[in-house]
Formats: sequence, C-alpha cells, structure tokens
Amino acid sequence: LVSRETKADDTLIQVGETTIGNGHLTIIAGPCAIESQDQALTIAKHVKKAGAHLFRGGAFKPRTSPYSFQGLGEEGLKILSMVRDQTGLPVVTEVMDERTFDLVEHYADIVQIGTRNMQNFSLLKRAGESYRPIMLKRGMAATIEEWLMAAEYIMARGNHQVVLCERGVRTFVHHSRNTLDLSAIPVVKKESHLPIVVDPSHAAGRRDQVLPLSRAAAAAKAHGLMVEVHHQPDQALSDGAQSLYPEQFEILCRQVMAIFKVC
Ligand code: PEP
Ligand code: MN
Repeated sequence: LVSRETKADDTLIQVGETTIGNGHLTIIAGPCAIESQDQALTIAKHVKKAGAHLFRGGAFKPRTSPYSFQGLGEEGLKILSMVRDQTGLPVVTEVMDERTFDLVEHYADIVQIGTRNMQNFSLLKRAGESYRPIMLKRGMAATIEEWLMAAEYIMARGNHQVVLCERGVRTFVHHSRNTLDLSAIPVVKKESHLPIVVDPSHAAGRRDQVLPLSRAAAAAKAHGLMVEVHHQPDQALSDGAQSLYPEQFEILCRQVMAIFKVC
C-alpha cells in the first residue's frame, strides 16, 4: 500500500486549510514540549506570524531519563486545543502508547509517532484504526524499507493518511545529535506516494545547524519541515539547545520558501 507501484499519484493530507504533499512546502513549528498556556500561545503567535502552517508541541514526552520533564499530559493537550482555537493553526502532537491513544486522537489534528516507537507494532495497528492523519517518524536506526513497512502497518488497518518524517539517524559522529539523512527525501519520493517532512531540529540537536539543514531539505524538495522554536530556549524544559529563537525562525521561513520555489 505504501508503494508508488500501487498508487502513482502523490497522497495529499488535508488538515484544516493546509494540504501536505500538494507541491507547497508545509512548515510545522513549535516547542519541543507544551510547558504552559502562556508559553504555547506566545510561541504559536510567533510561528504563525513567520509563516508556519501547523503548530507542534508534545504533551506526552519520550524522555531518555525518567527524571526529566515528562510533559503535561492531558493538560498539555487542552492547551494545544486552546492554541488551535486562538490561532487557527492545526496541531501535531505525539502519542506514546495505546493507553492514551483515544485521548491524543481527540485533541490532535495530526497524531505523531516518535522515532522510539516506529516499530511498536501494536501502536501502529491502533494508528491504523485512527480517524486522524499519522506522522510517522523514522526510527533512529531504521532503514528506509523498515520505515516504509511501519507505514504499511498503519495503512493495512485502513488509515491511508500517513506522513513520513525524516529526523536523522544514529551514526558515529559527535558534531550533531543524529545525522540527517537527506537522501531519504528522493528515495522515499521515488518508492512511495506518501509525503515526507524533514525534522532538522532532532537531527542536529543544536540550533546552529538547523537553518542550513532546513535550506538543504527545501532544496531537496521535502514536502515539509518540522522545526522546534522557543521564545526562551535557555529556560525550555526540553530540547532548548536545538530550539530556534523566533527571529531565527522568521529568517528560516523566508529562506526555505525562496529556495523551495526555485528548485
Ligand atoms: C519530537 O518530535 O517531539 C520527538 C521526540 O522527536 P523524535 O521522536 O524524532 O526524537
Ligand atoms: Mn524535542
């Protein structure tokens, strides 16, 4: 079902007034985690003004340490709803397990499955029964075949609204958190009809690489970008080091839109 051979035309994902995969560059932006109503709304207003089409923010966070901030849970989802009502931006948020799927699905416009859950097959099956589009992030050590097979799990259960997200893979380097696999863009576009979005923030792990990686992804004609932005990155409860200041995000939007147009 994921293969271009079974469906030649590109899959389009309609969310609110935005369509992912239709020849435009879709920009998804927001903090790593929803921290408060004020924080979320402040950032949402900034990213909307800069040109973002969707707002992102985690309410259930898959943190490496059990002692790190785990997200606000349902309260975070309610804040996301409020942000959507106030800004008109559809929202993307992660689901971590089957137990909370109904809840996340209720509040989210796009349900995200994170890199650590790419091969959580029971979660993928539940996502296949969802009435929401699913954004499936690439496992940090997954091949493209494994990633597409994970998307197949979702589609096999009836949900054909899947967006793929390249977020970097684990390599031996120390200059970035992960290595962004830009070659995934042309490969996925050739093998599959599903749209592919690039997340330079989790690939880089540091702010200074996010702009050049975004420009490269736009030049390679990804269908979208997902970028972490925070108005006070030093005080962020997660991923502050890779979060762009609003002014940097404005520059990013201008540059990637211009590049996307001429490539
Ligand atoms: C995220 O996008 O919030 C996230 C946790 O990313 P990843 O699953 O790619 O690490
Ligand atoms: Mn993050």
